[in-house]
Amino acid sequence: MILPITAYGDPVLKKRGADVETDDPKLTKLIEDMYATMYHAEGVGLAAPQVGISMRIFIVDSTQMEDSKKKPHFKGVKKAFINPQILEEKGEEWKYEEGCLSIPGVRGDVFRKAELKIRYQDENLEWKEEVYDDFNARVIQHEYDHIEGILFTDRLAPLKKKLIQGKLLKIMKGDVDVDYRMKFPNRR
Ligand code: ZN
Repeated sequence: MILPITAYGDPVLKKRGADVETDDPKLTKLIEDMYATMYHAEGVGLAAPQVGISMRIFIVDSTQMEDSKKKPHFKGVKKAFINPQILEEKGEEWKYEEGCLSIPGVRGDVFRKAELKIRYQDENLEWKEEVYDDFNARVIQHEYDHIEGILFTDRLAPLKKKLIQGKLLKIMKGDVDVDYRMKFPNRR
């Protein structure tokens, strides 16, 4: 089932997600719905708060970036991260122009470290500890921020933040064109 994506301005996007109760019978269905929602919106990642659920879970499918001619050797990942914890981030910070399904039409440069180590439960609820870099690290960092209540717009340079203020207000009011389902906090 495709769920509506929570738009910028909804308080759920600013909240730290609660730990996932892994015996929750609705968990499998939630992950399934999150994949359907992400693909429908043509995203490479989606976190539970973006479908209105304040829980520590996100999904990533960066395999969609594998065909890119700019990165011929890139190998993506497709998986759910349940109760994740970033244990370490290292390497040089690099800039990438990020966007977010909750903030349509807004993009901006965000600096993040190149590599991370993460501990999480996978879809079979097995604990894993893995290292990611490149675009995989980038998507994981962006999605991890979501379950911490942080948006990429919080990480933009001050001047850029000012420049997008008007656009953000429009998104809150639902005054924006999107071709996927969204839920706007202040739509009149
Ligand atoms: Zn996002």
